[in-house]
Amino acid sequence: MTEIGRAAGAALAERPVSDGTGPSEADWAAAVAAVRDLTPDSRVLLICHVNPDGDALGSMLGFAFGLRRLGVRHLQTTFPGPPEVPEPLRGLPGLDLLVPADEAWLDPDLVICFDAASASRLGTLAGRLDRVGTTTVVLDHHASNTRFGGINVIDPAAAATSVVAEELLARLGVPLDAEIAECLYVALATDTGSFRFAMTTPAVHEMAARLLATGIRPGEISRRIFDTRPFGAIRLYGDVLSRVQLAPDAACGLGLVWTYATLDDLTRHGQRPYVLEPLIDSVRCAAEADVSCVVKQIAEDEWAVSMRSKGGVDVSQVAVVLGGGGHRFAAGFTGRGSATEVVDAIRDELDRAVVPTEDQR
Ligand code: 5GP
Ligand code: MN
Repeated sequence: MTEIGRAAGAALAERPVSDGTGPSEADWAAAVAAVRDLTPDSRVLLICHVNPDGDALGSMLGFAFGLRRLGVRHLQTTFPGPPEVPEPLRGLPGLDLLVPADEAWLDPDLVICFDAASASRLGTLAGRLDRVGTTTVVLDHHASNTRFGGINVIDPAAAATSVVAEELLARLGVPLDAEIAECLYVALATDTGSFRFAMTTPAVHEMAARLLATGIRPGEISRRIFDTRPFGAIRLYGDVLSRVQLAPDAACGLGLVWTYATLDDLTRHGQRPYVLEPLIDSVRCAAEADVSCVVKQIAEDEWAVSMRSKGGVDVSQVAVVLGGGGHRFAAGFTGRGSATEVVDAIRDELDRAVVPTEDQR
């Protein structure tokens, strides 16, 4: 960490040294050099994954502010698919830096990707990484990351991509300020489930303390991000939760609880797809099941699947086999067929993904 970063970041403790599975010093140095080598004319394109969540958008926009502070003038941030930011994230600072995917530069000098475990998560924007003459940096925390960048800074031990982004900003000598901090805080709070999940280490709380020290207001941010829904969304939750099912025999008897939401459900209640994201948190409460999933229709025969585990099953293994990715406790993929067929495909894989008892935490 540089002197400027140390002074302004009010670091409470040294950041933990990588445990060997995280980025090497050479990886960090390459990422730092990629930014330091920029000239005033350089064009920097930041990309996060499709259907961006708080970590994807927050780490990207927080880093964009950091690049601004370093004097980067030509900066775009984007994500694939419809250029629609979920309502709870519309209070994030820096949204004016967003451009629709089809307006993103075709020939940027530097591309930095956030929170995407594979190039497929970048949709149509994946091609931006292939151009000769473009430096590509991947910042991520998914163990399943395919290291698709020229420079890969991947830390599976990090609770959020924003942890990696904060470290890189510190190494670049960018002091935290309220705008950077709010973005990184939203990212960190999102991916730790408001500081509840297993990856909520002392280092996570130390980072939160550094961010809060800039004066951001966690009560307001949390209410906006987690606790504000349209009335119609609550009616929709009622419908979707009323059809929840329990399969006690699934996952070698550890149990699966699941439900599904159709496009018709969304239309009936006048809601956008992202309002379904928090539903998994209600479904996964079922005490009788280790594994939970919500199957969300995105087209006639296409479903976005969210899976969670309490530790008895490695759901990332199931997701990877079915074409997706994620983490041991939270993973997802795109399924085809009917909702029941998608759940049957999950059930077929669950037995193989049961974690031996001595490895469970
Ligand atoms: P969520 O259920 O919150 O959408 O996603 C949980 C985790 O699984 C996140 O880390 C997310 O990045 C990952 N994930 C969700 N859907 C997909 C997918 O279709 N492909 C991949 N590679 N990862 C996914
Ligand atoms: Mn993340």
